[in-house]
Amino acid sequence: MDAKMKEFMDSVRVKNPGEDEFLQAVQEVVETVWDFYQENPHYKKAKILERMTEPERTIIFRVPWVDDSGEVQVNRGFRVEFNSAIGPYKGGLRFHPSVTLSGLKFLGFEQTFKNSLTTLPMGGGKGGSDFNPKGKSDNEIMRFCQAFMSELFRHIGPNTDVPAGDIGVGGREIGYLYGQYKKLRNEFTGVLTGKGREYGGSLIRPEATGFGAIYFVREMLATKGETMEGKTVAVSGFGNVAWGAALKAVEYGAKVVTISGPDGYIYDPNGISGEKIEYMLELRASNQDIVSPYAERFAGSEFFAGKKPWEQKVDIAIPCAIQNELNEEDAKTLIANGCQMIAEASNMGCTAEAAFLATDKIMFAPGKAVNAGGVAVSGLEMTQNSMRLNWTEKEVDERLDQIMTEIHAACVKYGTEPNGKVNYIKGANVGGFVKVADAMIAQGV
Ligand code: GLU
Repeated sequence: MDAKMKEFMDSVRVKNPGEDEFLQAVQEVVETVWDFYQENPHYKKAKILERMTEPERTIIFRVPWVDDSGEVQVNRGFRVEFNSAIGPYKGGLRFHPSVTLSGLKFLGFEQTFKNSLTTLPMGGGKGGSDFNPKGKSDNEIMRFCQAFMSELFRHIGPNTDVPAGDIGVGGREIGYLYGQYKKLRNEFTGVLTGKGREYGGSLIRPEATGFGAIYFVREMLATKGETMEGKTVAVSGFGNVAWGAALKAVEYGAKVVTISGPDGYIYDPNGISGEKIEYMLELRASNQDIVSPYAERFAGSEFFAGKKPWEQKVDIAIPCAIQNELNEEDAKTLIANGCQMIAEASNMGCTAEAAFLATDKIMFAPGKAVNAGGVAVSGLEMTQNSMRLNWTEKEVDERLDQIMTEIHAACVKYGTEPNGKVNYIKGANVGGFVKVADAMIAQGV
């Protein structure tokens, strides 16, 4: 790290004390765009990096609600409106006990670059709550969503800020949030994405993140003249992203051998396909946040309590759960076992050390490129809402495929090193940076 870059990172650290995840995300971007930034002095003059690393607005609010036993519960709600240079703030809501301002700032920052990469007009934002959906009844989930929206509604709108789902927020939660927004505003708008099909949602939105990730992996393999046919794949998580990725990977002839939860991971040597993939939806709907029941249900599969899937011998690893879920040791184990690629479908799924090692030794692609399919189809949902029409499954899927292929091409364009190897971290960061930076400059200080 050169002295000027270090000085810049120190200044970000001073402004954001203890915000480790946010600082990790900023450092990764700064390191990879630095040379490009120096070569283009107009960015430096406009203090683009200083401005990009500061959210435009951060909203923190109280969320009081009543549980099934009649007791009052108080959670904290957040919305980080990070950057609106290229469109309304756009990004998911995460309901998870680990949610903090630092975590949401990192996610909102990443979202800005990711959304830019999709080529659709969406700025970056992220929100959520430390609410834990685990073990909550359907009524409790509904009351919490209503309480959360009772404050959030005044800060969002179809041309202002368009939230969607993320960990702990799926179709059911979006429905409750939307219902409350509509009551408070008395208007039917496209203010949230990931809506149900019947009330303005887009086909393919539930599958989009996972499908998009596999389209991206397909493009990465194609640079080596390879396909997914016959490859073994380790997936972590068992939610929406893991489900969509497993569906598409299997369709492409790969064998998905793992899924995981906070309780451990399942190894299924026969491959997770067909009804076994659909069972993931049932597991998620149970609100128990565990995968061990899968092993009991499918003969031949094994449950490894408290372990991560990265100890298995696979060709491709796709983290689909949460940030920093794959560390340097895991990356070393995967590489030693012959793994040829790690593609992050979770946001910042790998630690900085793991991402660096995988970029050096095998192929690695970051979440902001690999998982951009989710928000891309959210953008397509916004378009359909504005036009007041619905595209067919085929139309949406083709557009998603095209967007992911273009994101891959942007990574190759901006990330190809002099030795011919593609640094996907650099490619995604520089590719995402350019459009946002140019728009910020055009709009003045
Ligand atoms: N939560 C997803 C992400 O991390 C989707 C966001 C959206 O659709 O707005 O990109």
